Amino acid sequence: MTKKSDIRITLTEDEVPKKYYNMAADLKGLQPVLHPGTKEPIKEEDLLPVFTKSIVKQEMSKERYIDIPDEVREKLILLNRPSPLQRAVNLEKYLKTPAKIYFKREDMSPVGSHKGNSAVAQAYYCRKDGIETITTETGAGQWGTALALASSMFDLDCTVFMVRVSFDQKPFRRTIMQTYGAKVHASPSIVTQYGKKVLKEHPNTSGSLGIAISEAIEMAVSSKNVRYTLGSLANSVVLHQTVIGQEVMAQLKKADIEPDYMVACVGGGSNFAGFAFPLMREKILGKTDCEFVAAEPMAAASLTEGEYRYDFGDTAGMTPLFKMYTLGSEFIPSAIHAGGLRYHGMSPLVSEAYDQGLMSARAYDQTETFEAGVLFAKTEGIIPAPESTHAIKAAIDIALEAKAKNEEKTIVFNLSGNGLLDLAGYEKFISGSLSSSRMK
Ligand SMILES: *Cc1c(COP(=O)(O)O)cnc(C)c1O
Repeated sequence: MTKKSDIRITLTEDEVPKKYYNMAADLKGLQPVLHPGTKEPIKEEDLLPVFTKSIVKQEMSKERYIDIPDEVREKLILLNRPSPLQRAVNLEKYLKTPAKIYFKREDMSPVGSHKGNSAVAQAYYCRKDGIETITTETGAGQWGTALALASSMFDLDCTVFMVRVSFDQKPFRRTIMQTYGAKVHASPSIVTQYGKKVLKEHPNTSGSLGIAISEAIEMAVSSKNVRYTLGSLANSVVLHQTVIGQEVMAQLKKADIEPDYMVACVGGGSNFAGFAFPLMREKILGKTDCEFVAAEPMAAASLTEGEYRYDFGDTAGMTPLFKMYTLGSEFIPSAIHAGGLRYHGMSPLVSEAYDQGLMSARAYDQTETFEAGVLFAKTEGIIPAPESTHAIKAAIDIALEAKAKNEEKTIVFNLSGNGLLDLAGYEKFISGSLSSSRMK
């Protein structure tokens, strides 16, 4: 008789969550977002020219559970939800650890990462509110890709401002967005006033995320029925990503597993928050001792090296002021391959949870995270996104700590995406030319 396998814990389509979980209902002490001019708490009407009204409402909501519309659940299924929770049996064997390691498979989305979860929600609400065009910026390209597909699904026009250097270096990401029907401009571009101004002053600039955000916001505020969308940081994005953590909780329950550690990487904080917050609520309620660990890059270590204060979300100082862990809005991280983690700030919800000691953080150099990513690829077969290798590195370290103490810990990490379009980083690692994160 063969033993019943517990390698893959799956859910059915009916088990795609029906509500989003809003951590703002349970996390006390959250500070309001401030208007950049008046420094007063921001009002709904201040945000309406930029974001669509349903998203503004969610951004400010303190309701614990918010219904997920059927149209959105349907699209989540097309993004391969519910995603499996899988046990890393070969990695465990390789490490000779008594710990069990599970990972949530956000890499199975057709857009390659968790970002589609919020993209389909934001596109749906824009369509419902009568918006015709949505804009955004993209650095590494994952958010732009997710939004391009979501726009196509909800019959919206999509304009993506892609940082010039990525536009030139990552032509395949651009092609994917264009295949889904998005218009992609290298930023700075000649389609906005701000872009033209920057180009006049710096004709050969490689662009930056800050400039691209400014262009996307300008396009939204200066035309009717056009709105801007964010791929991380915002409370509403965190809210949409909680489908991940709710599925994980259902899967753990189904397999009768109690996690000791929940681990995810952090850029703006959305995949970590979406993965961790539903269970972190149980921690606030005293129902679990699980430890939550955020893995960040040394090149942009906002939690372990930043300050908790008000700061802008962008470089140009156009966004509202968020109370968050930040390295300063002028901080430009070195050009690590985990492009999605190159950000100076951290989601206000994650920042507050960290400040209250509900979670901890570890920072890693990209040389050690790629090493962990290669080991994961060899043992489990999946080439992880450079961002996700930070979570893998943290999970491996915790598994080795458990081995040293001979403890049977259970570790669950979020595999936020696959790395099939990030092979340049792997190529450098393999050829020995990958530089340390600390080198500028
Ligand atoms: C964008 C991205 C991240 C980082 O963003 P968060 O908002 O912190 O989740 C992590 N992993 C992948 C694969 C990404 O695309």
